[in-house]
Amino acid sequence: MVLCDACRVRSAVVYQEHTGRRLCRECFIADVVERVRYEIKRWRMIKNGENLMLALSGGKDSFVLLDILSEIHDPSRLMVVSIVEGIPGYNRREDIEKVVRYAKERGIDTIIVTSIREYTGLDLSEIVSMAWRRGVRESPCTYDGLLRRRIINHYARIYGADKTVTAHNLDDEAQTAIVNILRGDWVGLLRQHPLAPPASRRLLPRVKPLRKVYEWETATYAMLKGFKFQETECMYLELAPTLRARVRAALYRLERAKPGSALRLLETLDELLEKPARELSVEDLPSCARCGEPTSPARRVCKLCEVLEKAGVISPSYQIPFKARGLAYLEA
Ligand SMILES: [Zn+2]
Ligand SMILES: [Zn+2]
Repeated sequence: MVLCDACRVRSAVVYQEHTGRRLCRECFIADVVERVRYEIKRWRMIKNGENLMLALSGGKDSFVLLDILSEIHDPSRLMVVSIVEGIPGYNRREDIEKVVRYAKERGIDTIIVTSIREYTGLDLSEIVSMAWRRGVRESPCTYDGLLRRRIINHYARIYGADKTVTAHNLDDEAQTAIVNILRGDWVGLLRQHPLAPPASRRLLPRVKPLRKVYEWETATYAMLKGFKFQETECMYLELAPTLRARVRAALYRLERAKPGSALRLLETLDELLEKPARELSVEDLPSCARCGEPTSPARRVCKLCEVLEKAGVISPSYQIPFKARGLAYLEA
C-alpha cells in the first residue's frame, strides 16, 4: 500500500503527474476543489449573491463544475442551460438528463434544456451538410461555438443572470491560447484572460472556474464521485482535423514528455497578460443588421449570421421560446 502524500493516512489512488504527488480519493477531491476556489478568488470571478447561468453539456466537466459550484455558491442563485446540438451519436439526451437530475438534487430550480434546432430551425448536422454541399468547408466547431455562445447569452439575459459560467478545463484553455497565438489573434488571446471584460455591454461576463484543472483530473474527479459517464468524441473531430485538433494532439505529447506544461503555459499567460487584459475596453458595438446582436465595428452582419448565410441557412428563425423546459423537454 502506498500512502497518500498529503494526509499520510489513507492509501493513494491517484498519481498527480504535474505535482509528482500520490493522493488518496479524499485528498485528490479536496485538492481540485481548493484549486477551483483559489482560481475564483484570485480573479474575483464570482461574488457572493451573483446569479449565475451554468452552461452544461452533460459530460464529466459539466458534472464537476456543478458539483463544486453548488458547494461553494448559493444553489438558489444557480441556473442551468443545456443545449442539444443535434449531432448523431453525440451529446446524447441521456447525458443531459443525468446532469439535469443532478442539478435538481442540488436544489437548482431553473433548468433550461434547449437545442440548436430550436434556435435555427435546423440541427447542427443539417447545417454542416448544407454547407458542405455548397462547398463551404467551415469547421462544424465554428457553427457550434458561435451558436452555443449566442444561445447561452440569450437565456442568461432573459433569466437575469449576472454572469455565464462554462466548464472549460485546462486542456481546452491551453489549446485555445495556442490557437489564438498561431493565428495571431491578439485580442482573442486577451479576451481569454479572466480579467478581460466582455466585448460589449450587451454580452454578459463569462467565467471558467475549471480553467486550471486538467481534463484527466475532471475525469478522475467525476469517477471518484461515482458519476458515470461515457465520453463520446464529437464525430466531426476526426472528419475535419482543425488546427485545434492538431494543437490538442501536440499538447498531449508535450504534457507526457514534460508534465505540467499546459498549466505553466496558462500561468505564464495569466501573469503576462494581466495588465493589457484589464485595460481592454468595453465598447458599444454596432448591432448586426440581420439579428440585432452586437457585432464588430467593421461588420454589417455578425459572424454567426455570416457563416449561416454562407451555409445556405437563409432565414434562421433566431427565436427561442422563453420558458424553462427542463426534463419535460427531454421526455417529450
Ligand atoms: Zn490523503
Ligand atoms: Zn447577426
